[in-house]
Amino acid sequence: MLALQGDVREHARLLEQLGAQVTLVRTPAELAAVEGLVIPGGESTVIDRLARLTGLQVPLPEAIAGGLPVLGTCAGLILLAARLEGAGPGQETFGGLDVTVRRNAFGRQTQSFETELVVPALDGVGAGAPPARAAFIRAPLIEEIGPEAELLAALPDGRAVAARQGRVMGLAFHPESTGETRFHELFLQDVRER
Ligand code: GLN
Repeated sequence: MLALQGDVREHARLLEQLGAQVTLVRTPAELAAVEGLVIPGGESTVIDRLARLTGLQVPLPEAIAGGLPVLGTCAGLILLAARLEGAGPGQETFGGLDVTVRRNAFGRQTQSFETELVVPALDGVGAGAPPARAAFIRAPLIEEIGPEAELLAALPDGRAVAARQGRVMGLAFHPESTGETRFHELFLQDVRER
């Protein structure tokens, strides 16, 4: 669990409920010891800056490229994006997901909303029955999905909000705040399989 900033506690609690042993990652040594990484929602510019201060900005992209299972939500998706629109000054990403992501893609009125998403990849995971309840909070959007990545979920109007590339999964929304556990279960399956 990347614990530089953001809603670390909500994810940690959910992962523990699902039987995972959770370690908070703030240093390269802590990163080297984990078998999977959740990057929480929060403020991607701050997480990016702190990753540089803690020396994580080099080993973290290397670990992702090396096959470390990763689940990024909201700011976490932004940090996984290969290409970023609306980046803060000097903002960089870790990469790992062949997508173009636009930060703060929803207008002011709809900065935050909840909706249900049909997610075929969740069929048979845990209790299994879609749709997934998703909270969007100053959320990004996936503007384009490159050939290395695949779509996991879209809004009813077709805009992409979740994508996957191998064991790297990025969600524009927060499943951890709506009691939606299946994305984390999918992530833990990847961790076990590896
Ligand atoms: N808008 C935030 C950012 O750019 C993300 C919001 C969130 O993680 N809930 O980092």
